[in-house]
Amino acid sequence: MSQPHDVLIIGTGITGLSAAKHSLQNGLSTVTMEALLPGGLVTNVNELDGEIQGSGSDIAAALMLEVHKLGAKNINATAASIERDAEMLAVTSDAGRHLARTVIIASGARLRRLGIPGEAEFEDRGVSHCADCDGPFYKDQNVVVVGGGDSAAQEALVLSEFARQVHLVHRGANFKARQHLVDRLTDHPNIVIHWRAQVEAVLGDRSVRAVRVREADGPAAGEISCTGFFPYVGLEPSCEFVPEAVLRDAGGLLLTDANLRTAMPGVFAAGAVRSGFGGLLKHSVAEGVTAAESACAFIRS
Ligand SMILES: Cc1cc2nc3c(=O)[nH]c(=O)nc-3n(C[C@H](O)[C@H](O)[C@H](O)COP(=O)(O)OP(=O)(O)OC[C@H]3O[C@@H](n4cnc5c(N)ncnc54)[C@H](O)[C@@H]3O)c2cc1C
Repeated sequence: MSQPHDVLIIGTGITGLSAAKHSLQNGLSTVTMEALLPGGLVTNVNELDGEIQGSGSDIAAALMLEVHKLGAKNINATAASIERDAEMLAVTSDAGRHLARTVIIASGARLRRLGIPGEAEFEDRGVSHCADCDGPFYKDQNVVVVGGGDSAAQEALVLSEFARQVHLVHRGANFKARQHLVDRLTDHPNIVIHWRAQVEAVLGDRSVRAVRVREADGPAAGEISCTGFFPYVGLEPSCEFVPEAVLRDAGGLLLTDANLRTAMPGVFAAGAVRSGFGGLLKHSVAEGVTAAESACAFIRS
């Protein structure tokens, strides 16, 4: 078992890295734990939209470097549980049991699956979750994007630079995406919007060849020919390892107070895993700072 740290941060997306930076700047011994590579959801976004601009991987790499220079250690492992151990908190992972005075949960979220026939079967054979990575493979082909929020709008615009036609299928009659993204979608020369429509199945043989779509007002389901299918229908929190003592909202997101304290003393939650998170990188940075401040106050109280 390793020496106890002041702060153990689960997840090194932009929230976790921001928390680590601030915690180290406050003089706290800090360790991060990451299941995959650092950067989280924005790693594959080449052109960020919003107040923080540039490429997601560049921003994550710059933060990583700062955190590394400040002396953070990273455990490359998946957190499996958090429990109280006398005066400490114990986080168990596939790399062992780690003690800390405080824990910041910054484990973010993953893209929600539609759960329709063909979606899992054609994963990486036409079904993709990364427009920036896979867009160039669909040059002059037809692709289908599903969703009505920022991610769907942003990724449809990325794909429109490569694809012959982007079909954007949205079950609602209005977009939830921010207005400047909606403005760019409307009247776009190679984006066709299918309002009040739902994809029922992904069809193909060795790879995707079409999707079956039902329009709310249409008489029967029809097909859209496509070789690429990109669902962006929201996020689900990555918090299976978090104990029941940390309360959730109806959508499974972690509940905190304004100082990002959960119901479990010494455990804080920030970023995309948290109920009430604003959704953008500027919110990740701000919440990382608040969680580190709260952890610092807890230790010094
Ligand atoms: C497609 C898409 C495009 C976006 N584009 C923009 C944009 O242009 N501008 C903008 O401002 N925002 C954008 N966002 C929003 C932005 O991505 C989020 O606000 C931000 O990334 C949330 O960061 P996070 O650190 O809270 O979570 P995440 O980015 O999800 O990071 C969580 C990290 O925790 C790790 N983790 C999870 N579970 C465990 C575990 N059990 N143990 C250890 N590690 C674990 C994950 O591997 C991950 O690295 C976009 C989001 C999406 C989905």
